Amino acid sequence: MKIGLSFLGAAQNITGSRFLLEANGFKILVDCGLYQERQLRERNWDHFPTPAGEIDAVLLTHAHLDHCGWLPRLVKEGFRGRIFCTTATGAIARIVLLDAAKLQVEDAEFKRKRHRREGRQGPFPVVPLYTTEDVEATLPLFAPVRYNAPVEVAEGIKASFHDAGHILGASIIKVNLTGNGEKRTILFSGDIGRWDKPILRDPTVFDRADYVLIESTYGDRVHDNSQSITDTLTEVVNSTMKAGGNIVVPSFSVERSQELLYHLHELLRAGRFPPLMAFLDSPMAILVTEVFEKHPEMFDEEMTKLIRNHKSPFEFPGLNMSRTTHQSKAINNIRGTVMIIAGSGMCTGGRIKHHLVNNISRPESTILFVGYQAADTLGRHILDGAEEVRILGQKYPVKARIVRAHGCSGHADRDELYRWLGGLKEAPRKLFVVHGENNVAHKFADFVKEKNGWDVSVPAYRDEVILN
Ligand SMILES: [Zn+2]
Repeated sequence: MKIGLSFLGAAQNITGSRFLLEANGFKILVDCGLYQERQLRERNWDHFPTPAGEIDAVLLTHAHLDHCGWLPRLVKEGFRGRIFCTTATGAIARIVLLDAAKLQVEDAEFKRKRHRREGRQGPFPVVPLYTTEDVEATLPLFAPVRYNAPVEVAEGIKASFHDAGHILGASIIKVNLTGNGEKRTILFSGDIGRWDKPILRDPTVFDRADYVLIESTYGDRVHDNSQSITDTLTEVVNSTMKAGGNIVVPSFSVERSQELLYHLHELLRAGRFPPLMAFLDSPMAILVTEVFEKHPEMFDEEMTKLIRNHKSPFEFPGLNMSRTTHQSKAINNIRGTVMIIAGSGMCTGGRIKHHLVNNISRPESTILFVGYQAADTLGRHILDGAEEVRILGQKYPVKARIVRAHGCSGHADRDELYRWLGGLKEAPRKLFVVHGENNVAHKFADFVKEKNGWDVSVPAYRDEVILN
């Protein structure tokens, strides 16, 4: 049988996951992500390479923007099929997309004003990529599915969704194709999480597949597990309290924030630091935390046990949820140490920018990074040791202590990715390494080639292959 596969994103880069599968006369898109690397963001304004109206269905691995954030544009361009994903992914995608639309509208407005004031023009059109209305038109297309229950997405094309251990609802998608009396299986790894992490079940391992697409975000390194996230948190909280500064945590609203609350809750119960005033300063993270509380069926055994004993593992005395801008601004007036958890996770937008403005030049404050910082983002610049950064159009010297917490990554490292592949009893016909910075993806591909002798490739943007 002949299967077409086009790599329309996350090909020799990380974001913008989009893989178009063509088989049996149908077109199925796996993921429809937003490009977030600064130098690739203009691709978000390009038309979809295939007329969107010809795409029959979308399969969504999970609700991170780099996997679902372009859906409203796809719908705007004429897509009318169904978007298959797990129930939790649908619930989180709704929150994430509505927030993205709001941010894009606000950012466009802010930029327009600034450009007018400065009398200059930026490289991108100063209109939002999409609006709340575009998201509202997208939401009815979501078709929730259960984990491990195959669903026929088109004639001869079945998809099933399996635990990825990455974020709530995240899936590895297995596509089974039947045609001309032949059968083929393709695995789309989505983002692979880690084993033995709190809250979520471990990633599902598969024993066979004809073709595999594997992410490679951390394909060139092994996570430093020498210091646990709990030790880092304990040290940072105690020392910043002593110094009298604030702890600013740029955090992804989905998963990292809930994981952080879970750890703080546990550490406070264990008396590892004095009572701490903390703010979850992110309306989106607050909404996502509510989704977590509604989907205990997605939790691992340990967590299930825990929620039998507590009301919510994400709450503790001293934790404040700041929903409004007024509440967010009021945090600045508090004396003494507070922890502020705010988005966006890579400091590319959102309330975190204002908290960085207020804290980045204070030697007594700490900026604590808990998540991945993509190349060329404000977060990456700070983490890489920039002496001065530009935030909201102004320059600030970096004087605060910069800490990177290890052990809380949502992505498997090289060895864990290899462990995931290790489930396959025989070599797939081909392994495609995607979703990694170019040199990282190549390093991981070489690693697997050398270890297993498999046929491995690192497809480039817009590459098309025919799978037999
Ligand atoms: Zn992800």
